[in-house]
Parts: sequence; C-alpha cells; structure tokens
Amino acid sequence: MMKKRRPTKTVLLIENNLDGSGSVLDMFNHQGSYSFELTYVVCMDDAVQRLAMHPFDVILLDLALPDTSGRDAILQLRAYAPRTSIVLLCDPEDEPFAIQAMETEVQDYLIKGEIEAHELMRALRNAVARRALEDVLYMEQDRAQVTLDSIADAVICTDIQGNISYLNPVAERMTGRSLEEAVGRPLMDVFRIMDAATGEAAANPLVKAIGKNRPARLPVNCILTRPDGHKIFIEDSIAPIRDRDGLSAGSVLVFRDVTVARALAAHISHLAEHDSLTGLPNRLLLRDRLGQAIMRANPDTDRIALLFLDLDGFKHINDSLGHAVGDKLLQSVAKRLRDCIRTPDTVSRQGGDEFVVLLQDVHEPEDAAVAAIRILKAVAEVHSIDQLDLCITASIGVSLYPEDGLDAETLIKNADTAMYQAKENQQHSYRFFKPAMNVRAVQRQSIEQDLRRALERREFTLHYQPKINLKTGKVTSAEALLRWAHPKRGHTPPLQFIPVAEVTGLILPIGSWVLREACKQARAWIDAGMHLATMAVNVSAIQFRKEGFLEDLTAIFDETGLDPHVLELEVTESVLMERIDHVTSILGTLRKRGVRVSVDDFGTGYSNLSYIRKLPLDSLKIDQTFVRQITSIPRDTSIVNAIIGMGRSLKLQVIAEGVETKEELDFLKLQECDEAQGFYFSQPVPANQFANLLVSHPLDPSGLLSSI
Ligand code: C2E
Ligand code: MG
Ligand code: MG
Repeated sequence: MMKKRRPTKTVLLIENNLDGSGSVLDMFNHQGSYSFELTYVVCMDDAVQRLAMHPFDVILLDLALPDTSGRDAILQLRAYAPRTSIVLLCDPEDEPFAIQAMETEVQDYLIKGEIEAHELMRALRNAVARRALEDVLYMEQDRAQVTLDSIADAVICTDIQGNISYLNPVAERMTGRSLEEAVGRPLMDVFRIMDAATGEAAANPLVKAIGKNRPARLPVNCILTRPDGHKIFIEDSIAPIRDRDGLSAGSVLVFRDVTVARALAAHISHLAEHDSLTGLPNRLLLRDRLGQAIMRANPDTDRIALLFLDLDGFKHINDSLGHAVGDKLLQSVAKRLRDCIRTPDTVSRQGGDEFVVLLQDVHEPEDAAVAAIRILKAVAEVHSIDQLDLCITASIGVSLYPEDGLDAETLIKNADTAMYQAKENQQHSYRFFKPAMNVRAVQRQSIEQDLRRALERREFTLHYQPKINLKTGKVTSAEALLRWAHPKRGHTPPLQFIPVAEVTGLILPIGSWVLREACKQARAWIDAGMHLATMAVNVSAIQFRKEGFLEDLTAIFDETGLDPHVLELEVTESVLMERIDHVTSILGTLRKRGVRVSVDDFGTGYSNLSYIRKLPLDSLKIDQTFVRQITSIPRDTSIVNAIIGMGRSLKLQVIAEGVETKEELDFLKLQECDEAQGFYFSQPVPANQFANLLVSHPLDPSGLLSSI
C-alpha cells in the first residue's frame, strides 16, 4: 500500500544572518516527517520579488533585516502576502513586540538561539493551520453578520439574564432603539409588547424560552410599541441559545412586522362579508349574526325580530333615471337605515333593492312594529340625488324568533313572504308573518315562473265584455279582459296573476301585448263594417307611468291602423294620484291624440275630487261594489247617485260596471246613467262571440231597453 504523503507546504525564509543562524537553514535539511519546500532570501527586496512570483504557505521572518526591520517588515510582507502565515524570528529582547504582533498580524514567533528543529517545524505547521482556522472563523462570522443585517426579520439576542446582547438593523428600526442604546438593557425595556385584544402588557416571552430551555412563541395578536408611540403588529418565535452542554446561554428572538398583512387580511374578510355599494353587511354576515343571536337567545324569554325590506318601484327609477342614480339612491337608503338602528342591531343588504334589519332585544312584537314604522318614514323622506328630489317607499315583512322560526333560514324566508304580502296589499306598509302566507307564497312563486313563459307559449287570450248604451240599448263598446289558460291549472283569474305580473315587471310586455291585440281586433271589426264606438283596455299603474308608454302606443296605432279615438284606457284612481305632474302631462298628450281615458273602479280609491276635476278625463266607471248596494242596501244608493251627478257636472260619461240584475239596471236608467256593463247583459266572451253581439242588438234580456 502506498504511504499517503502529507502535502508539501512552501516556506519563504527571510534571514540575513547566514553565519550566526545557519542552524535554521540546517534544520530544513533534517525535517524528519515534515515536508516543507524552502526558499531562502536574505533581504526584504528579494522576498518581495519571490512573493510576486508565487504565493507561499508560510513566511519565516527575521525581524532584523538589513533593508527593513520590526513592524515595517511585517507591514510590507502583509501588503504582498495578505493571506500567508507569518512566524517571526526575534531576539530575546524583542519578545514583547512579537507577542503583541501575534494578536493581529502574525501567527507565531521563535526566539533566536533557542530554536530546535522539531520545534521550528511544528511552529510552521501550526502557523499554517492557525491561519486557515482564522479564515474559516472570519468567514463564518462574516456570513452570520451579513445574514443578520440583510434578512427581513428582526433579530434580538439576549444573554442568560435576559439582557440584550445584539439587535439587527430591522430590530433597531422596529423597536426604535439603536444597537448601542439597547445592548445591556433588559429585553422588556426595548421590546415593549402588548396583547392587541386586551391592550394589556404581554408577559416576558423569555421566561418560558430560557426557563424551560425550549422554543416559545410570541402571544397571538401581539403589538410592539415604539418609544414614539407607533404600534406594529408582530408575530414569531423565541428560541433559547444553548452552550456546548446544552444549557441555556441566552435567547434569540426572531419576529416580523405583520401590520400590512393583518390589514390586508382584515380588508379581504371585510370585502367577503360586506356589500361593496353600501358598505353594509351582506347576506353572509347577516346569516352569521342572526345565527349567533339565536344561539345566545333564550326562546322562553328573548325575542329577535327580522325586518325584510324591499323598495317599491325601485326598478322603475333604475330604468328611467339610470343605474348611477339608482346606486346613489340605494346608498342613501342604506344610510337612512343605518341611522334608524341601535348598535347591537344589524342592517344588511341582501342584493338589489332588498335590505334586512336584524333587531335584537325585542321585548314585544310592538317594538318591531315601531321600528318598521320608523324605517318606513325615514326611507320615504325625500332623497336629494344629483339635483333630483327622489321619493321612494318601502314594503316591510316582519318575522319573529321564536314564533315564526327557530333558525336563520326560516326567519329570513318568512320575513320575505310577509314582505310580499305587504307589497301586494298596500305598498309603503309593513306586515307581520302569518303561517298561512306560506301557501300563498308558494302559489305566487309558481305563478311567477309560469307567467314568464305564458307570452311565448301563447297562453293568453282576450275576452270582450260589451258596454251598453242605456238610452239606445245598443252595444256601443267593448272592454278587453285578459284571460290566461294555464296548461295545468286551467283558467287563472286576472286578479291572481296581474298583481304578480306587476311586482315582477312582467306586466310591461303582457300589457303591451293586450293593447296591440285589442287594437288589432277593434280594427278588424270596424273593417268588417261593425259599429264599435270604443275599445277599452285596462292599463296598470306601472305600465302607464313607464317612460316610453306613449311611444309604445303610437307604434301600436301605426301597426294596427286603428283610429286613436276608438281606444279607451281604463286606469284606476291610484294611477292618477301619484307622480301628478307626469300623469297630467301624459293625459294631456292622450287627449290631444284623441285617446279616451276612463277612471276604473271609481269610488274605491278615496280620490281627491277637486284634483280629479282638473284632469282631462272622459268617463267614470262606478265600481261594482256600489252597484251591488243598489239592491242590497237600498238607502245607500246615494253613492251611485252622487257619482252620476258628479260625472254629469264634470261633463264626464258615467258607466256602471258589474250590473247583474234587472233592479240594478232599472235604477241606473232612472238615474240617467249613460252606460252599463255586467253579467246581466253578457259575460266577457271570446272575439267571435262578441262579433255576434255587435250585430244582434238591442241587448236587453228583459226587452226593457228596446221599448224605450
Ligand atoms: P275591471 O277592469 O274592473 O274589470 C271588470 C271585472 O269585473 C272583470 O273581471 C269582469 O269579468 C268582472 N265583471 C264584469 N261584469 C260583472 C258582473 O256583472 N258581476 C261580477 N261579479 N263581475 C263582473 P276580470 O276579468 O276577472 O278582471 C278583473 C280585473 O283584472 C279587472 O277589473 C282589471 O282590473 C284586471 N284586468 C283584466 N284584464 C286586464 C288587462 O288586460 N290589463 C290589466 N292591467 N288589468 C286587467
Ligand atoms: Mg276595467
Ligand atoms: Mg272595474
């Protein structure tokens, strides 16, 4: 086996005293097991030349050279050989100098005259090894320092007593203390932390780390306060430093600024739980809060109220004034709602124009009613938006825990159902949930779904009911009445589906179909030579007030070629009583075109008569409830008299609807009512049957009219 040779080290001997110390040179001839390759020079100049040619592992330097000596000699060498080990050869009196030089620049020294060969060799070898070790150590230290200076985390080191021994630059910045200020001070003087949740000072984290000699974490939600009062959210860990025996020798605390990350996380969770338009809690957060409120509540003693609010006619505002105005109106409503409630309560936006208010601590159902009234009032106050004064009302449904539901889902659903009831019955009102509503709600829902398809599937038809001139007994006109042949339910009365069509906005396409169909039919009868004075069509409020209604009408006249004088629009009093300016202008235009307008169900709407008087109207239709009273409560017939008298004085035509008996007819004729309509003459009938009525007059089963 080949013996492994120790690698040869190169030595530069710089020594002048050949005679006196020839022994040093000699010693290299007897190296024993060492293997140094020697280069020998006698002065610094020669040494420098050699060093310029190639590096050496170690230099053996005589401190007394002819061209230089002492410290200068060392400095010169270091300039040319910064990484080479240096061993000094000095006279005994220079020993103190040599000792001092060892602290910084040289690795060892030997006293001239006292040197032995093996001692020299060992000194040279050790000097080389020591230099290498110093290099490694320096690099280690340097690497650690660079790491600590450049990492993004803050680092604080303490000794075993918990006094600070080191701070990296990030820690300096975060604690607001410099390394010089901090070193030697107890950790908690510099690292002032508190619990963000309680605001109380947090315990010294070192106690655990050093005391138990294992890593510990900072308290969750920890805030570091700087001397200037600035607060920073921090998190991370503290680890003990152990000595060789594994015992605590101090600690290292590593932490980082999580203020921005925390703020971001909070922002993201806010976004997920709030509505971006109004900033209110969204349906998720509401469900959560409602769930919590239910969990906390005792069903025997506590009550919770849920108010489901929907704006009346918001879609109309959105459609006519644009989404930007609609959005601002929603924001304004949101603010009003927020102002209406107390702190533990929640206002949330469900989406669209729906809001839900959660009231905790409700003692009596009346408390919820009071809140509902307060909210209705607040919402109804004028909203000033972009120089517009907008008015809007709301409908509210109320459900109560525990009586209307024990879980969030049911309470919300039932409040929603009650809201629909409020809306269908009377807008701008509130309703408490009643279990019977559910059945109606289910019905209503299925009607809504089917209505959407009814137009496409041609499930609608029109029936026509004749209007009879009471002087001539002739059929003068027709009222078109909508009929829906539902594929499963069969004939569905208009009073069941028209309110649903109004709430959902479906009344617009349906109403426009009715107008077109009725005009087409009227034109067809007239073209066939039949005499038809007017064709009456019922128009709902939503349709009548819709922007573009008049344009629709013009298009229909153009399409069907019907003379506008033949068309009569039947509107209810409530249509005339809202948005008065708008209504007056529409009526003015209709009058100019020759389209007639009659007030349907007259007498039921508590109209302001002095106002009605000023509108360009053509006829009043006495509601059938009054016609019924003619025979049932004879003395109350005065209402019918009053309406007929009023119509006459306003030069309006008066027609009685729902005439079912001969007595009713006789009475109306006596009072000189102009026209009548009702089952006594004819039910509403399909178009082909109506054509027969038009040609076969007079239409009086008793023959009374024809005898006039
Ligand atoms: P309305 O305009 O007051 O129509 C009169 C209603 O009374 C019709 O009910 C008609 O069939 C019924 N009627 C007629 N004569 C008598 C009678 O002698 N006795 C009784 N008890 N009832 C009589 P219908 O067809 O069920 O319509 C109900 C309501 O639905 C209408 O009341 C009207 O407000 C609405 N409607 C009907 N068609 C349309 C339409 O095309 N558009 C709109 N917007 N509403 C419509
Ligand atoms: Mg009518
Ligand atoms: Mg009517």
